[in-house]
Amino acid sequence: MERRKFISKNIAFGALAPAAYGSLGFTEPKTDKLAHSFEKEDDVTIERVSEGQPHRGKVLAVIQPHCDDIPFYAAGTVAKLIYEGYTGYLIRTSNDDAAGAGASLGERVLNNEKDNAEVAKVLGLKKTYDLNYRNHRMDEYNIQDIKGRFIFLFRLLKVDTLICYDPWGHYEENPDHYITARAVEAARWMAGMRTDYPEQLEVVEPHTVREMYYFARGPQLVNRVVDISRFIDIKVESNMVCKTQGPGGDNGARLRKRLAKEGKKLAILGNDDQTANFNYIKEFVLDQDRIIGEKYGLDRAECFHYIGPSPSKLEEYIRKNTVSI
Ligand SMILES: [Zn+2]
Repeated sequence: MERRKFISKNIAFGALAPAAYGSLGFTEPKTDKLAHSFEKEDDVTIERVSEGQPHRGKVLAVIQPHCDDIPFYAAGTVAKLIYEGYTGYLIRTSNDDAAGAGASLGERVLNNEKDNAEVAKVLGLKKTYDLNYRNHRMDEYNIQDIKGRFIFLFRLLKVDTLICYDPWGHYEENPDHYITARAVEAARWMAGMRTDYPEQLEVVEPHTVREMYYFARGPQLVNRVVDISRFIDIKVESNMVCKTQGPGGDNGARLRKRLAKEGKKLAILGNDDQTANFNYIKEFVLDQDRIIGEKYGLDRAECFHYIGPSPSKLEEYIRKNTVSI
């Protein structure tokens, strides 16, 4: 029996962040992601970058309820997989209408939609699909409706691999996160069944999604650590374009201005807004990636509950044991 071990990966920034966020007026700090992730310690795979575009021809679905989820938790892995040849699509389930205080509801929806489109552009994703469910209310919808839409998209796009919130992540408070995750996990195998939504089969073929990278902001089973060291700057940029919500956006510039008013400055924030935003995100907002990386001897890393196709034991048996007749 393998020993399971609780690990604490986020002590340094986790202790610092609430006060820092509070002083800047942030409303939703997301620094609790890795406080108590657990892993089967002998069963963690380190995934490194591959050259030669080994995934050319394959399709990646990048799924997030809100425009800032993927940038914060998984943008490095998305950038890596696109570099390795995937064609990617960004699917956002909510309309983000609860994010962006100070603007009208319509403006909030539009501002977040624009930010989301920018995230897709920065990460090299081909197209966005906005499902536009009301923000923070996804638990009021019939999950069958959400599943049906995902099943159609997985069949239409012939998705090989997806990245989404972990349907088995613990202590997740946001209904948009856990409802999206549950709908995706059911839809990705139902999409392969001829008996589910058979009317769709007049225009699309059954198609099972076989490879999943699930991330969580609470405790989760971690069995895959992705080396994102070469892609950290793209990840930073994907957080910079989330202007309407999230811990990135213009918060570095705001901090620089606030300090200037007090007659102070931080060297790391440079002399202009762009530098302030970039460095603030890289050094403080995404500090978690450095902490994960340190544990595995990498500069920067993201971690996942990964599920993928396992090698066929039967094929292996046939390969080893068949004889000519
Ligand atoms: Zn979210």
